[in-house]
Amino acid sequence: LAIGIGLQGMQEFEGNRRKIRRLAGVARARLAGARWLLAAAAISIGWLAWTSRSSVSAAVTAFLLVTAATLLLPRGRSGARSTAIAADGPAVNELPGSDVVAALPDPVIIFDGNGAVVHANQATIAAFGAMPPGTLLQLRFRAHEMQLLFQGVLGDRRPAVIDHVEKVPIERAFRVSVAPVGNDSSLFLMHFRDQSEVRRIDRMRADFIANASHELRTPLASIAGFIETLRGPARNDETARERFLEIMQAQTGRMARLIDDLLSLSRIEMKPHVRSDERIDIGVLVSSVADALRHLAAENGVVFTIGKAEQPLLVPGSRDELIQVFENLLENACKYGQSGGRVDVEFARSDAGPRQQAVVTIRDYGPGIAEEHIPRITERFYRVDVETSRSQKGTGLGLAIVKHILTRHDGRLVVKSKLGQGAAFAVHLPLD
Ligand code: ADP
Repeated sequence: LAIGIGLQGMQEFEGNRRKIRRLAGVARARLAGARWLLAAAAISIGWLAWTSRSSVSAAVTAFLLVTAATLLLPRGRSGARSTAIAADGPAVNELPGSDVVAALPDPVIIFDGNGAVVHANQATIAAFGAMPPGTLLQLRFRAHEMQLLFQGVLGDRRPAVIDHVEKVPIERAFRVSVAPVGNDSSLFLMHFRDQSEVRRIDRMRADFIANASHELRTPLASIAGFIETLRGPARNDETARERFLEIMQAQTGRMARLIDDLLSLSRIEMKPHVRSDERIDIGVLVSSVADALRHLAAENGVVFTIGKAEQPLLVPGSRDELIQVFENLLENACKYGQSGGRVDVEFARSDAGPRQQAVVTIRDYGPGIAEEHIPRITERFYRVDVETSRSQKGTGLGLAIVKHILTRHDGRLVVKSKLGQGAAFAVHLPLD
């Protein structure tokens, strides 16, 4: 009984101490808030005392002026503002750990010296499913690197960081860190940072550099080979020289096109959104692009049929970039759809979606694209048939550029095609 009463007394004492501390904080904050008022009062009393001209009043004046100066001096970071904030709620060291980890967007688990879960935040449940208190982490995360991590931190309480890949339900890469909580608690904290997106971007960048280098190296190797032949065995062969120079010219053209497309792509990617006050009549723009490409159409034996928009379709955006979009699509229709002998362009207005849109459809009657390739043709360097693309002076970047430009304009590209039945590329752009 005596021990019970003693413990209760201690608890009450501790509770009161906190209360007093909090009240003192509030008082300090109030005082700090009213310091201009207090300073003004001190100066006024000082002035009254001074005018009564006695030595006592001189001492009072001096004291009050020093008080005023202290109150008026600027305060540092630990001054009035931060005290006021702390005084309104519990101090940081009194916040419940579960509230702190609940506010974090990453999965965080607090566990005890046996590796049993004490608390898991909502992000953990979203990422790994239910994790009630008592769940043994060594059984939940069975990967070898996680077992070593638990052994290390539970053994000698040393913080550690590892990379861990969760395979189920989909593959996700995490950077996992564990550390003991405080100096004398027997709890530990485990934090997961999802690295999947970073890794995906890294892989994409590496693939892109490998592809671009490969695309440049092929024509370069061919030019180097021809130079060697021209300086050696074909030195005096007039006809061979003419033919080789022609091939070398074609290869330098290919390299130049590739570099132009790479530069376009990187320029577009640098600015994710266009800010332009220009309003472009999309019907007029597409007709002028088609006019400029008539020679290419004729070379491929293709005839353009350009429809008419019922009303002007005014689209805000960058004229040069939109020209690039329709150039790429019309060129592709001529190059890959040449066997159809005809390319149709139709204009429409669509109310589907939150904003009215202009829809321009470029339709060819060539071999079309097999279903499995359609989702991938806007990837950089993706071609359905590499040889056909190369023979048509393609770089594999045209549709990637189109997609990026349309994204910058809040637009999109919809591709519909069936093998043997041609292809339709529909450009959707929000109207002014
Ligand atoms: P490329 O420079 O090779 O033309 P694109 O990015 O413009 O690159 O196109 C990617 C691939 O999509 C092309 O290589 C081609 O295989 C396919 N493709 C594009 N347009 C058409 C089309 N109208 N008909 C059939 N296939 C097409």
